[in-house]
Amino acid sequence: MRTENHDALVVGGGLVGAAIAYGLQRQGLRTLLLDEGDVAFRASRGNFGLVWVQSKGLGAPHYQRWTRGSAEEWPALAAELREKTGIGTGLHQPGGVHICLSDEEFEKRGAAMARLRREAGNFGMEYRMIRGAEAREMLPGLGPKVAGVSWTPYDGHASPLSLLRALHTGFTGLGGRYQPNARVERGTAAANDFAVEAEGVLHRAPRIVLAAGLGNAELAPRFGLSAPVRPERGQILVTERTRQVLPMPTTTIRQTEEGSLMLGDSKEDAGFDLGQNPEVMKQIARRAVLSFPWIAELNLVRAWSALRVMAPDGLPIYDQSERFPGAFTANCHSGVTLAGTHANRLAPMIAAGALEPEMAPFTARRFDVRHAA
Ligand SMILES: Cc1cc2nc3c(=O)[nH]c(=O)nc-3n(C[C@H](O)[C@H](O)[C@H](O)COP(=O)(O)OP(=O)(O)OC[C@H]3O[C@@H](n4cnc5c(N)ncnc54)[C@H](O)[C@@H]3O)c2cc1C
Repeated sequence: MRTENHDALVVGGGLVGAAIAYGLQRQGLRTLLLDEGDVAFRASRGNFGLVWVQSKGLGAPHYQRWTRGSAEEWPALAAELREKTGIGTGLHQPGGVHICLSDEEFEKRGAAMARLRREAGNFGMEYRMIRGAEAREMLPGLGPKVAGVSWTPYDGHASPLSLLRALHTGFTGLGGRYQPNARVERGTAAANDFAVEAEGVLHRAPRIVLAAGLGNAELAPRFGLSAPVRPERGQILVTERTRQVLPMPTTTIRQTEEGSLMLGDSKEDAGFDLGQNPEVMKQIARRAVLSFPWIAELNLVRAWSALRVMAPDGLPIYDQSERFPGAFTANCHSGVTLAGTHANRLAPMIAAGALEPEMAPFTARRFDVRHAA
């Protein structure tokens, strides 16, 4: 079999793998991005598009910092991708709100936000709980059932498909090689020496990054790692386009640059079933109309479901193999939000050959799993 040598192999061409591959190639590593075909589960093509900070990392300050860091990296990444590829990512970071539909929700949210601030420590966490006329002034058309909102200045949104395209185009533009229809099933591993087979060619490199989303669960043990991720289904509804009315995104409703409203944020344990549940769709629509009654006038034009990539505690997994230095995993359920840190902070660590100590809490060892031999 023919052998090709590279500086790095990245398995999985979704948002996580593409951001890391882009970052590695930009660091000067000749990188091969191997990606399965369209049959694979692809969260990156079915998500909501928030670049979201509030509510991330309750009880896990390292994740809060990592997320905030990514929101900070995003503008530079978006500008760089636009310059290199001509593709805009639709990034807007005007701040964002979470809408509370009852006093109970508002109180609970307030307590969670206060805890996030406490846990942020010196890092700080700016937020406000806003009620009444002020909330209505912020978000025109807010319904009478809305008890209040939590607001932070850090939140925003982007077009996930444009981001994915920009990362792929940026990566190949820098000389990276993207190989679609390349499902990696096995490989050989030794310290800083990895080989995988794709399309009858053996690809070797001193670094390998497993970023295959839900595929990582099966793949990681073959490289001395573990990635106990499972699917969590989310459904999204999309309305016809309308004039720009929403000045900022909310956790469950955002308006795209083109004018559609996206409604979403359901969470279901449905295994790998990519079907749609009408009851859940009704709940999404109901909550949206309670938040903004004028949404009831809009026609829904599309709906879909997609599978989140969830670790048992909902936090990302970033890991490196002790047995086979040079092998890494990356999994998260916020691949849009974290694109900034994946490209700008994680990729340089991987290029340097080891994760920095700040990444230690993200290891899969926190689940007490035995890393495969
Ligand atoms: C409904 C929903 C809403 C969401 N909303 C948001 C949001 O608002 N903001 C946010 O930040 N995140 C959001 N997410 C999460 C975000 O979409 C994911 O975190 C992100 O897409 C994960 O990217 P990934 O690259 O890890 O996985 P995927 O997109 O699943 O990509 C994995 C890739 O690996 C490939 N692959 C799999 N197995 C193999 C193999 N063996 N060999 C080669 N290739 C393989 C697949 O073909 C695929 O291209 C949402 C997700 C869902 C489902």
